[in-house]
Amino acid sequence: MVTSTSAIKSLKTTAEVSALRKQYYARAQQEPEKKVAWHSQGFPVEILQAMGVVPIDLENYAAVISAKRLASTYCMAGERAGFSPDVCGYARIFMGYMLGKDIPEAPYGGLAKPDVLMVNSYSCDSRLGWFYALSQQFNIPLFVLDQPHQPDGGSDLLPNAVYTESVLRNLVSFLEEHTGNKLDIDRLKGIRVLARRAHEIMHQINELRKAVPCPMGSGDAFTVLWPINFIRGTKECDEFYQKLLAELKERVEKGIGVVPEEKFRLMWTGLPFWYNMRFLNYPEDFGGVVVIEGMILFPRRYRMLPLQDEDPIKDIALTSTRQRQWPSGIGDAIKTVAQVVNDYQIDGVVVTFNPSCRLSCIPQQELLNGLTKQGIPCLSLECDMADERTYSEGQVKTRMDAFIESLLAQKS
Ligand code: SF4
Repeated sequence: MVTSTSAIKSLKTTAEVSALRKQYYARAQQEPEKKVAWHSQGFPVEILQAMGVVPIDLENYAAVISAKRLASTYCMAGERAGFSPDVCGYARIFMGYMLGKDIPEAPYGGLAKPDVLMVNSYSCDSRLGWFYALSQQFNIPLFVLDQPHQPDGGSDLLPNAVYTESVLRNLVSFLEEHTGNKLDIDRLKGIRVLARRAHEIMHQINELRKAVPCPMGSGDAFTVLWPINFIRGTKECDEFYQKLLAELKERVEKGIGVVPEEKFRLMWTGLPFWYNMRFLNYPEDFGGVVVIEGMILFPRRYRMLPLQDEDPIKDIALTSTRQRQWPSGIGDAIKTVAQVVNDYQIDGVVVTFNPSCRLSCIPQQELLNGLTKQGIPCLSLECDMADERTYSEGQVKTRMDAFIESLLAQKS
């Protein structure tokens, strides 16, 4: 039974995300003449924006449904529609939203109907299956953004970039054919400039989080991640990060932390539990702060490569192959997390196992073993990121209590 939900935030700027999110979901409803693309995570939304197509990220919408505590009902509706409980929680929630009967009203009054669907191929199998099912069931054209498999993460292999560029150009043709809109290259260049700046600022923000006391914990971090993921390249996103950076700088200068007296620092790896983000604040009752998040590997991810080519499509192709977002091989991920533990003076690492997200869950056991071997204290928690039926508040808190007790004992 979950007794609390959204995280308590420390920063004023974080509160602005809620209005930005509302605006994002309202836009397509308010401008019915615009073409709409439903897409997966990891999709180059800059191209959609530069073509005047309204992007809507379905994984985010599923996470919003989960955060509103509607996931169990929607998941069950998705399961009744034929999606196994082993399938990604986001997919079950979303298919429940699309196909469920007698379900509670969806957040933001539901989504504007899509003209096209777009999915990237390299993250996970659930994602592809889910978008194929949507396309077939509702007869909506689907574009698969196929990108080379790069087990070592970023790659300088030119054929990978050349292939990616050709796929991106096919994406532009696909959108032209199905929406009638044209690509505005100058607009795309401007969007890329702002998107780069957001990445650079996010990198600076994460550098500031090394400060003791930590000026921003995960309760804020998982929220401030929203604009860069979903509206990057826009003026609103740019202004948001400028403001956030200024607020954080001020907090560091004045020595303002998340808790009055910081006693220990944690790192979170894996996805958070969207239906109970308040759990990220739980260690604060004992003087602890979740200082940095690992699965997304913030510190590395937000160092944007400089412009790779004057042609923005070529630039996206080169950047996205050289700077693949998802963690690379597990050996490299263990090394990176161990480095973050050192850089951020982390006392313990929370390793979450989100059973319905194979992408985030499969490497976790190796990560746990690798960190434990190096003597880094770890706590493993098994709860789905979306489906709250997998969550037991009593069990999770008892495990966290014991972990905190051992960390504090080690430090005393
Ligand atoms: S399984 Fe994980 S990566 Fe794949 S769609 Fe679901 S949440 Fe996203």
